[in-house]
Parts: sequence; structure tokens; C-alpha cells
Amino acid sequence: MKEIYDCIIVGGGPVGLWLSCELRLAGLRVAVIERRTNRINQSRALTIHGRTLEVLSLRGIEERFLAVGKPIKSGHYAVLDTRLDFNIFDSRFPYTLYIPQETTEALIEEFALELGVEIHRGAVAERVVSGADGGVTVSGANERPFELHGRYVVGADGARSLVRLQAGIEFEGHSGSGTWFLGDVVLASPPDAPLVSAFNEHGCVLIAPLGDGVHYRIVVNEAEDSGRRRQDAVTLEELCRATARVVGSDFGAHSPLWLSRFDNETRLAKSYRRGNIFLAGDAAHIHLPAGGQGMNVGIQDAMNLGWKLAAVATGTAPAELLDTYESERLPVGIYLRDTTMAQSHLITAFSARGRALRGLFNDMLKVPAINAYFANQVSGFAVQYPEPLPGSAPPRSGLVGNRIRDMPLRLSDGTDATLFGLLSKGQWLDLIISEGAKVERPDWLHPRSVVEARGVPTAHGDTLRDIGAILVRPDGYVAQTAASTSTREG
Ligand SMILES: Cc1cc2nc3c(=O)[nH]c(=O)nc-3n(C[C@H](O)[C@H](O)[C@H](O)COP(=O)(O)OP(=O)(O)OC[C@H]3O[C@@H](n4cnc5c(N)ncnc54)[C@H](O)[C@@H]3O)c2cc1C
Repeated sequence: MKEIYDCIIVGGGPVGLWLSCELRLAGLRVAVIERRTNRINQSRALTIHGRTLEVLSLRGIEERFLAVGKPIKSGHYAVLDTRLDFNIFDSRFPYTLYIPQETTEALIEEFALELGVEIHRGAVAERVVSGADGGVTVSGANERPFELHGRYVVGADGARSLVRLQAGIEFEGHSGSGTWFLGDVVLASPPDAPLVSAFNEHGCVLIAPLGDGVHYRIVVNEAEDSGRRRQDAVTLEELCRATARVVGSDFGAHSPLWLSRFDNETRLAKSYRRGNIFLAGDAAHIHLPAGGQGMNVGIQDAMNLGWKLAAVATGTAPAELLDTYESERLPVGIYLRDTTMAQSHLITAFSARGRALRGLFNDMLKVPAINAYFANQVSGFAVQYPEPLPGSAPPRSGLVGNRIRDMPLRLSDGTDATLFGLLSKGQWLDLIISEGAKVERPDWLHPRSVVEARGVPTAHGDTLRDIGAILVRPDGYVAQTAASTSTREG
């Protein structure tokens, strides 16, 4: 007998796991198929950017991450000396959180299991076949062969996605040129500054703490092509030698936890959907991990897709809503592809001309508005969804399509709440700030999908000046506003 699910997610990395949480929150029956019997034990994605922390906070689990991560108030663009200033963000999280990917995955998996997601570990998906009924069958092998049937399937199965391949979706781009390598190591004589970035004619080195108080990550790109390929092993000796060549010291690196090589292969799925099969995360986009964006963008793909898939699967939204996953997220993928390719070019600009170009970019980043532009892009705060959703009235203010920050609220019954707290169950929020104001909701939006509240912000409410009511999507973006009809209460 076939097992029937609302959605089967192939891939239990950070993206698949986060999507599973979003779907379970809406009560869907969800299975995650994951090849690995154990979670990864590699630090890989070391940074959770501010917007992703907001995503976690929208579901009330940010403290689990803050308790074990290390906030860093700046970031880099192409390892330029002028750092991006994250203090400028109008957010509870004006920083990026250093936390190894293995910990991030463990914490998301913990939440998924609390919500009742079924995670099938050790299960390898081998075939993904769309049926005449619109559903999709995923089959493969675990301890014994399995066959699962889902109304929807999402490929969150990483760069070499089987789902993408079997759905016949092209992965356009180019192969890698040159390699970078890294080591998570203990430093006998750590540098005075917590973060080191160096760039000269010998190469480029980045050193950052892993956040556990013991280990540092060293990332190196040598100017001279070593001829090594992504698959070639890295030795501690190679890491120490190359680091010392660029920075003048290897800081006594020893006891590596992880040594690895990667490249700048860059590809983007031509489409994020074929029928009832969707792609998210690395299955949809791969690039040089510069600025720490892949996992962050992937989790935000999942956040965008989750509530839409849940609404259509439960019959509370029209099928066209699912088209907006690609129309909203593909442009983000295109920007990600282009900005990481640009960084790849700047990071390898070792020649005298190249270094002169970097000098120019360094100076440009000293201009606060330019610095803020790149900081907002890298951290995910710049993402906007300006196109109205199907069945919606035209935007009634410039806030529509933007993310909304968290803020404390005094509700009309005298109790205190937070805006994110009211969104924590994955529903919409219709917040009436001034009496008589009423937002136009999408014509299909069912009242049971909406939390209705009356209240006023008690801090950080500047952006809501002149706004009488606001409708917020489950992923924290403003869907509609209504002008204030009276002076605010409270
Ligand atoms: C050195 C390095 C540093 C990085 N730093 C950052 C950073 O600081 N910030 C950031 O945001 N990103 C960073 N990234 C990128 C980040 O690691 C990825 O973007 C992220 O892992 C993507 O998550 P995912 O869930 O989409 O895919 P994955 O993490 O690749 O997960 C896919 C899962 O699918 C499973 N799977 C695959 N095929 C099958 C199958 N047929 N059947 C069953 N299961 C299957 C795999 O076992 C895997 O667990 C870095 C990457 C590297 C290599």
C-alpha cells in the first residue's frame, strides 16, 4: 500500500527541514526523505543573517539560536577591507549570528520533530514521477524499497538534486574555475582582532571564530593556480603554508575539525516549479559561498513556499497562489547568482589592475548609503515582493511588499503582545491600529487563516505612522495597508 502525504520533501538539510516545519504548522501531513543516517557534522554555513533570524523569530524559536551563536556586527563583501556595517538595520537583529550549520540543522530538526514531521533517515530517493492525478510518487531504497505518494513534492536535495533532474528542469550556469580551501582549526596564537581579512598579490585569507570559543575558520584562495580540483583533499600543511604566505603567519593552526575545498560553480534553475514539483535552496541555486548567503536564501525560499503550499493544499487559496513562489523567489536567485559572481571576480582580482579596482570598491563602501545598500542585500533585508498576490487590490502604500520588523504592541484589551508573536502560528495578521480602518484582504483569504488584533505599537512603530490597519502575510511581508482614519488610541 502506498503511503499518502500532502507533501514529500526530498532532502533534510536546513531548507527541507525548515519547509517541513512551515507545512506541519498548517497541519499538513509531511514526510522528509533524507539520505544521510546522521546529520552533517560540518560547520559549512557559518552565518545566519538578520533576516533569517527574523524568520526564526516569526515562529518563536530564535532564542534557541541566540543562546549558542556569536553575534557579529559587520560582514564582508568580496573580502574588501571596508566592512559592511550591520548596525544600521532597523531590526531586533542588527548583526549576523556565527553558528555552525550542524547546530542550525540540529535546532531546526528539533523544532520539526516537536511539530510532528516524519523524517525518514537513510532513505535515498531514486525516482520522482508525476501521476495523471496531479500527484507525485517518490520511490527509492531505505533498508527496503519504499514508495511514497504526495500531492506535492519539493526538491530540497541540494546542488546535485535528483528531483530537479527528474523534473527535467535545467540548471543553467557555469562550472567552477579555481578553488578555495578552508580549515576549521585551533589557533595556538590567535590574531588580536577577532576577524582577519587579508588580500595581496599572494592571495586572499579570511579568519573568523567558529563561535564555540575554541575553533577558527581559515579560508584561503591562492593567487597562483595550484591546479587542484574541488574533490582534492586539503592538508593542514597546505592550509598553514598558504595562510602564512598571505598573512605572514599561520597562527599556529592545529587540530583541524574539518578541511575542505570548494569552487565558484554557479548555476540557477531555469524554473522553480514543474507541475506539482518545486525546488528550494541549493537544488535551485548554487554559487561561491561568499558573504554567507546560500543557506539563508534557501531558508527564505522555504518560508515563501511553505504558507502558499499549505494554503493551496488545504483548499483555502487558489492554485495561482503557487505561481507566485517562482515570480517572487526567482528574482532573488538571479540577484544571488549575479552578486556572488561579481564577488568571485573581485576576490580573484590579484593583479595590479585588479587590486586598483578593489581599492575603488573599498572607497565606495566608505559611503554610508552604498555600504547600507550592500549590507541590506547580503543580509536579506532588501528583499521585496511588490507585486500584489492574486485576488488582491492594488497596494495602498509604499509599505506593501516590504518586510515588517517586530515591535511590541499594546492590544485593545490592555494586554501586551509582539507583532511577530501574533504571527507565530503561521497565520496572517490583520492588525487594526486606528478605529474604523480596514484593509482589503485578498478575495480568497479565509477568516480562519487570519489572526485579527486591535492595538498600537509601543516602540519601533515609526514606519506605521499614518497607517490605520495592516495585513501581514505569514512570512512577515506586508500584503496591504489602510490609511489611518483617526488619531491613534493608547
Ligand atoms: C564552505 C562553505 C561555506 C558556506 N557558508 C555559508 C554561510 O556562511 N551562509 C550560508 O547561508 N550558506 C553557506 N554555505 C552554503 C550552505 O552550506 C548551503 O547553501 C546549504 O547547505 C543549502 O541547504 P539545502 O538544505 O538547500 O541543501 P543541503 O544542505 O545540500 O541539503 C540537501 C540534503 O538532501 C539530501 N539528499 C540529496 N539527494 C538525496 C536523495 N536522492 N534522497 C534523499 N536525500 C537526498 C542530502 O543528504 C542533504 O542532507 C556554505 C557552503 C560551503 C560549502
